[in-house]
Amino acid sequence: MMLKIKRVPTIVSNLQKEDGEDGSVRAPGCGRNCLRPCCLPGSKLPLYAFKKLNHCKTAEEDVEEPPVAFLDSLLLGEWEDRMQRGLFRYDVTACETKVIPGGSGFIAQLNEGRHLKKRPTEFRVDQLLQPFDGNKFNFTKVGQEELLFQFEASDDGTQFFPDASIDAESSPSVVAINVSPIEYGHVLLIPKVLDCFPQRIDRDSFLLALHMAAEASNPYFRVGYNSLGAFATINHLHFQAYYLAVPFPIEKAPTRIVTTAAAAGNVKICEILNYPVRGLVFDGASSLDEMANVVSSSCICLQESNIPFNVLISDMGKRVFLLPQCYAEKQALGEVSAELLDTQVNPAVWEISGHIVLKRKEDFEGASEANAWKLLAEVSLSEERFREVTSLVFEAIGVAEDKVHGGFPLSKKPPPPDVETQHMEDEMDSLVGAHPAMVPV
Ligand SMILES: [Zn+2]
Repeated sequence: MMLKIKRVPTIVSNLQKEDGEDGSVRAPGCGRNCLRPCCLPGSKLPLYAFKKLNHCKTAEEDVEEPPVAFLDSLLLGEWEDRMQRGLFRYDVTACETKVIPGGSGFIAQLNEGRHLKKRPTEFRVDQLLQPFDGNKFNFTKVGQEELLFQFEASDDGTQFFPDASIDAESSPSVVAINVSPIEYGHVLLIPKVLDCFPQRIDRDSFLLALHMAAEASNPYFRVGYNSLGAFATINHLHFQAYYLAVPFPIEKAPTRIVTTAAAAGNVKICEILNYPVRGLVFDGASSLDEMANVVSSSCICLQESNIPFNVLISDMGKRVFLLPQCYAEKQALGEVSAELLDTQVNPAVWEISGHIVLKRKEDFEGASEANAWKLLAEVSLSEERFREVTSLVFEAIGVAEDKVHGGFPLSKKPPPPDVETQHMEDEMDSLVGAHPAMVPV
């Protein structure tokens, strides 16, 4: 049996067509200023080359001034420029956002523009690895005006070239706007865009995403990933990222250590506690490479086992959340309540992390911590399934549950959310000032 769900696809590029088709290959200069051979020759795009480090940044290295401030000037500056040029489908800065009262601090956004004028499309949700299909929408078809800069590793320290050529031979990694942003500075990182990788994690691409989080050098800039079957809608390898100046509930959830096995290097693997979605947290790596090795191997295991998952890269690449999920599968099997389906919320990485984008005013107005828990509890694997999945992952990466730390405790349901309003006012305040000063490039 093939499992499919119907959902309204999110438009991430202005060149994305309703039917995912855009006709046959055109003559040179197709008129769309795209990234294919018709339009690419002679194109230029700023290039930010980051310094490869084989350890986590020390405090000294952190104060080294890069040639351009990666987050404030380059990423947010270029993003602002595209906003001024009217490339977004709506003004995300005008969307209402609030922190939902309660101990978890879920963040709700009312975003009525994101899914307007779109018909639901069928998505196959039971096959995590699917071959790249050049006939469907992919990022080689975006207009070059949607690209912000090239992002590459450099052996010679951090460098910035405002007017670099796009070298088709080397297939650059690029950062582009998401034309349906869910927050300020919402961008896509597309590793080796011209190589046309399908949506699946590999070590080098994951390392690149970690570097992006590290270069931003700001804990409020997060990078996320959705696998196919876990609400990715485009089968062309991409990460998402944006800036939001409040802690995400998942980042505040307590954790307990599950293993520190030698095979994971210095990486500690923990499980999330007191949170509606079960997941693993990786931290304590002595380098981004070490983190990339452990997390990408875990993701590859999930991919090969056909288990949909989401990833949140937090704290400048020092913490990574790995969240296997089963919502789309339940939806396809008719096991999700009509009440939840009616909200049309797609629980991808941001929702799971606690930033919930709502499409209907009534859901926004009635948003409560209990409702957020109810939704996310449907996303989570069951206790039993989570144990099976983590065993698979640990086996794949060659670690054992740590006897010293007792491994996983026996079945324990997450406690219900406690109602506590401590820090709420602070968070409300920081949300009001969440958008940093805009620095033109
Ligand atoms: Zn073209």
